[in-house]
Amino acid sequence: MAFDIFVIAEHRDGKLKKSTGELLTVARKLAAAGGGKVLAAAIGAGASKTASDLAAWGAGTVLIAEGPALEHYSSLRWTRVICDAIATRKPAVILMTVSSLSRDLAGRIAARANAVLASDCTALSAEGGGFKLVRPILAGRALVTAAHAGPAPLLATLRPNVFAAEKPAQPGAGSIETLAVADDPKDARVTVKSFVAGGGTRPELAEAAIVVSGGRSLGSADAFKIIYELADSLGAAAGASRAAVDAGYAPHSIQVGQTGKTVSPVLYIACGISGAIQHLAGMRTSKYIVAINTDANAPILKLADYAIIGDEFEVVPLLTEEFKKALKT
Ligand SMILES: Cc1cc2nc3c(=O)[nH]c(=O)nc-3n(C[C@H](O)[C@H](O)[C@H](O)COP(=O)(O)OP(=O)(O)OC[C@H]3O[C@@H](n4cnc5c(N)ncnc54)[C@H](O)[C@@H]3O)c2cc1C
Repeated sequence: MAFDIFVIAEHRDGKLKKSTGELLTVARKLAAAGGGKVLAAAIGAGASKTASDLAAWGAGTVLIAEGPALEHYSSLRWTRVICDAIATRKPAVILMTVSSLSRDLAGRIAARANAVLASDCTALSAEGGGFKLVRPILAGRALVTAAHAGPAPLLATLRPNVFAAEKPAQPGAGSIETLAVADDPKDARVTVKSFVAGGGTRPELAEAAIVVSGGRSLGSADAFKIIYELADSLGAAAGASRAAVDAGYAPHSIQVGQTGKTVSPVLYIACGISGAIQHLAGMRTSKYIVAINTDANAPILKLADYAIIGDEFEVVPLLTEEFKKALKT
């Protein structure tokens, strides 16, 4: 039986996030294996602006929901709009990115849609009429390979930067359908009054190709500036260990790890970070890891591809200077 794949797109004011391209690449492969269709849903302010991009990524059908009721994000409204669409389209797989949005929504959607939730997948393929997926467990110490045979739909959240994003040679039909947004007073139990963007020009941490993170050893918020400077010289996002965040050197929004964000960049530079299991849980799938540490026995060195054994207060500014020269930033 043909199975359809339903992608929940992420965008900001109509500009798609890179990770949505990754979802649609996976969706096309799954749909091709099952002879099904790719549907992509975009919700919220500017959603209709994503339609041509979603088609370019291979969406056969683009489902759009926007309007005053959806101007600001609301878990309750988003869940209802998405679940109504799922109920009528009956996809075999629903895909979301591992993000703040899916952390908030995926559980609700899975419960409401009677779907099986597999979070934080690092591999997903169609196999034997069902699906095979891989996800890290025990803070990344082990990988579980699981099979899903249905008939309940599978809701999988995919870790960003792990799956390739490849546009198809031919775009999808991208036929647009508007999703109804019925007003349910129960949705007003929680309302978002305003949305304050974090600001700054650095790339978003969870999606960045390069991340430079600092740890407790920086010693102060002022000293943490050397991390931002190195990040800026590389066009990278800045991250921090929980110890640095708890000490007030960096905001929680940039914490990497089990209780922070999960990142999977091409390059992760850990400055003065010991490599506690909870930190590794958020960055161990990075392609190349560079550790700068005074301690040659720090646990992070077991995972690092390259290590600089030295004082970050000397090494980091030197690197910044060299990258600025080489990259003319
Ligand atoms: C439930 C739970 C959840 C957690 N969640 C997270 C999480 O999401 N993210 C997270 O990061 N942690 C998390 N932690 C905390 C985690 O266990 C560690 O305490 C934390 O990651 C340590 O941060 P750190 O590496 O910055 O500090 P430390 O462990 O103190 O390491 C400092 C490192 O800096 C090195 N160093 C010192 N001076 C210099 C210098 N001048 N130059 C270079 N290197 C130097 C030291 O050799 C050392 O390796 C969690 C803990 C628990 C219990």
